[in-house]
Amino acid sequence: RPRRGLEDADAPALPGWRHVYSGKVRDLYEPEDAEPGSSETLLVVASDRISAYDHVLEPPIPDKGAILTQLSLWWFEQLAADYNGASASPVEHHVVSTDVPEAVAGRAMIVKRLEMFPVECIARGYLTGSGLAEYREHGTVTGLPLPVGLEDGSRLVPAIFTPSAKAEVGEHDENITFEQMAERIGQLQAEELRYVTLDLYTRAEKLARAAGIILADTKIEFGVDPATGQIVLADEVLTPDSSRFWDAADYEPGRAQASFDKQFVRDWLTSEASGWERGSGEAPPALPADVVEKTRARYIEAYERLTGRTFRG
Ligand code: ATP
Ligand code: MG
Repeated sequence: RPRRGLEDADAPALPGWRHVYSGKVRDLYEPEDAEPGSSETLLVVASDRISAYDHVLEPPIPDKGAILTQLSLWWFEQLAADYNGASASPVEHHVVSTDVPEAVAGRAMIVKRLEMFPVECIARGYLTGSGLAEYREHGTVTGLPLPVGLEDGSRLVPAIFTPSAKAEVGEHDENITFEQMAERIGQLQAEELRYVTLDLYTRAEKLARAAGIILADTKIEFGVDPATGQIVLADEVLTPDSSRFWDAADYEPGRAQASFDKQFVRDWLTSEASGWERGSGEAPPALPADVVEKTRARYIEAYERLTGRTFRG
């Protein structure tokens, strides 16, 4: 079924590029001189939009698009750099260049246009969120049986692969079993995506741990290069929007962990102060300036700790 996209996304007009889609966070463009839908590349622009509880919030977080783009590019580099190491992952990534229009410099990349798989590939090395909810009810996560006695934040060794089906904007992605994934995309492709996802997670988890950050879980998207039939690593990777980052120094299983990104936003939204009812179906109120500023600082801290670089906005 067609993906609807966000209608009021405010994607900037960019000379030479035709806007084709906006998700909750990113705006996609194709070169204007190509037939619609047929270009070999796409321009992916990360906005400063932030979403929580399936709503896009107001106002945006200044520099978020740039921070997440820079972090994602750093990860693509790290993961490609040790191809020849002990854990050679056979997957290439989709980034072609960062030579993008001035108006979106730093928060955009040009990528190979892929046929995306209609699934999200999730690796979990820790039990929390929707995984914990299913475990408490059935003792499983996406149908995988887990040992008894696990609690919120328990480490999972080895990490598990828990796919989900991509939902339209405004709808919740739905966890599916590996068998359901294989029915959708074929057994061999499903097995390859599972292998590559767990390999990427395992390598990234080690790198993050060395920086004092626990990568609890992450969602990865892949596509197929129509020219070669190869599976390619796509989308953004290992950002606070696609992953759970916890502070290793504060980690304590048996309770909810403070997350590295949207914790201030979620805490405020669910507090008395916001006056918002999560189940009400109404749009949340605008975030106060101090919540915006603390959230921005947290994104920068995650970027700087992981990469060892200084963020220059
Ligand atoms: P949301 O995140 O709001 O639930 P979304 O994932 O569709 O929806 P974004 O993440 O904001 O939206 O936008 C990025 C979109 O670009 C996604 O649909 C993603 O699958 C797609 N995409 C990422 N990389 C590529 C690529 N190389 N070729 C084609 N599409 C891609
Ligand atoms: Mg997305």
